[in-house]
Amino acid sequence: MKQSPPPVTATTANWTSSKPPLLRFLHECHAEFLAETGGAVANYIPELGKADPAHFGISLATLDGHVYEIGDTKVPFTIQSMSKPFVFALALDSLGAGRVESVIGVEPSGDPFNSIRLNAENHPFNPMVNAGAIACSGLIHAARGNGAFECIRQALGRFAGRELGVDEAVYASESATGDRNRAIGYLLRNNSVITENVPAVLDVYFRQCAILVTARDIAVMAATLANRGINPVTGEQVMTPYAIARTLSVMTSSGMYDFAGEWIYRVGIPAKSGVGGGILAALPARLGLGSYSPKLDKHGNSVRGIKVCEALSAHYDLHMLNRSDDARHSIIADYNIGKNPSRRVRRPQEQEILAKHFQEVRVIELVGTLSLSNVDYVSRRLAGGLRPQFVIFDLRRVTATTRAGARLISEAFKELAELGVTVILSGIKRTSREWTTISEWTGRLGNIRDFYLLDAAIEWAEDQIVYRYGGSIDFLETTELSEQPLLAGLTEEELTDLASRCAIRTYQPNEKIIAAGDPATSLFFLRSGVVHVTLPDGVRLATLTAGTAFGEMALLEPQRSADVLTDMSATAYELPIADFAHFRKQHPRACELIMRNLAMLLANRLILANAKVDLLTST
Ligand code: GLU
Repeated sequence: MKQSPPPVTATTANWTSSKPPLLRFLHECHAEFLAETGGAVANYIPELGKADPAHFGISLATLDGHVYEIGDTKVPFTIQSMSKPFVFALALDSLGAGRVESVIGVEPSGDPFNSIRLNAENHPFNPMVNAGAIACSGLIHAARGNGAFECIRQALGRFAGRELGVDEAVYASESATGDRNRAIGYLLRNNSVITENVPAVLDVYFRQCAILVTARDIAVMAATLANRGINPVTGEQVMTPYAIARTLSVMTSSGMYDFAGEWIYRVGIPAKSGVGGGILAALPARLGLGSYSPKLDKHGNSVRGIKVCEALSAHYDLHMLNRSDDARHSIIADYNIGKNPSRRVRRPQEQEILAKHFQEVRVIELVGTLSLSNVDYVSRRLAGGLRPQFVIFDLRRVTATTRAGARLISEAFKELAELGVTVILSGIKRTSREWTTISEWTGRLGNIRDFYLLDAAIEWAEDQIVYRYGGSIDFLETTELSEQPLLAGLTEEELTDLASRCAIRTYQPNEKIIAAGDPATSLFFLRSGVVHVTLPDGVRLATLTAGTAFGEMALLEPQRSADVLTDMSATAYELPIADFAHFRKQHPRACELIMRNLAMLLANRLILANAKVDLLTST
């Protein structure tokens, strides 16, 4: 028996409530690893032993600021060692790398987190083990005195995007029992790594470890690390990219205690764990993950948290060293103005020049990131063709520019300038981040032009070609009806009759001649000046100069579909449709010619429009 298909409305109704696949995956991980009951809650800090071993939360923050959550993601727990990367970043940013590196190393120790061993220079091995972290807190204390902890709390809050509090009970508990850390503190002072009051430094350290976070907070903090220091939820640049990159480096080599080597080998995502049961994983340029489950393995890492990270990395193939990129996708279209002229309607003399010299203007439309490899590829593609006089780089689909990409593109621009090629940028606003990054390098060159609209850029380059090859564009020139392509083939007598039915109109700059939506009761022949046709949403369809017609669709349609405005003062012959009907009765041959001319003009426009679509789909 034939079954009827399910009603369409049922599917569409479910759509909004369906889970994005990444959230679905996290749900599956949560369900699967909930059954994992191995490990033990840390109790060397007595208060930590009170944690509920059943708690399990996973949160993932994307770099566009979306946060996925499953399970106990709102349960607060102490950040413990996950504070270390952030305090290290803070020290780098506020005290300078030189000061920090003079007392703290960046080599993995291979030791447990609370090892009392120092390196050959009697410095902590790295800032991710207790000795290095206490040294970092000592540096902040030396600079900020009693304000040190508050400074740390606020910095961590900026990473999380909210004010963070302290678990006073855990703080008191560690402060009462943390003699091993005190021993490390005195060892550091003995070696002049700390020159301060050791109890005060330890107090900062214990407090920073007792800062309360949730799995969600950790995900956002991790995403901020993954996003070159910009919190993707608040948009704040929390730390410099320099400090963030250094921090991620030590997380990569030393973040997971004496499991760090194995971790980066298997999972390949910079991470840090804390004895409170949290794991923070930051995959640069991709995501931040926060998990919370208090039972720890023998290395001090959350058992379930490790499983989540391993599963995420394996399932989506996220190992950071398992990457490739194809620069050839960075060019979406590459053409000259022969295939894709501007929307400016050109006079016959201009058309002739442009038809001869169309190869002088090359347009390259770019997409994605201006990275080292993408710009390198573009520069080689450019060198491959004939050398044009103008190159337009359309950047409207460029989403990011790396510093390497900006530097390389500025070097390419410089070389083009030396060869006498003019560079034009389009699709980029001077207020955009891309502009700032690029102009950081190109600022001194000064030979770059920019137009927000690609069409305006092409039009400007065309004008330059017209001027260079002897053409002139006389905006003040007045044309006659006989020069109108729409009226080509009409006899002098027919033209005179038509002219007698027209009124001559004069317009001020920026005046609206035709408004979209109005009844189309006349057509116009531009005598002098420049007008443009735009859609109500602001898209410029065409620029017209003297000698061309507009509003001619009134011959076919009863209503105006676009606005026509003057660019400068202009004059036009206006022919009412009613008068055209009388003219038609007297001159049927002329009217047939006009309709044929109109069909030709429309066909040409269609050919151009198709070519534009083709350019994008075929490259
Ligand atoms: N406050 C803890 C300690 O220093 C942090 C340890 C950790 O999370 O690894 O013992």
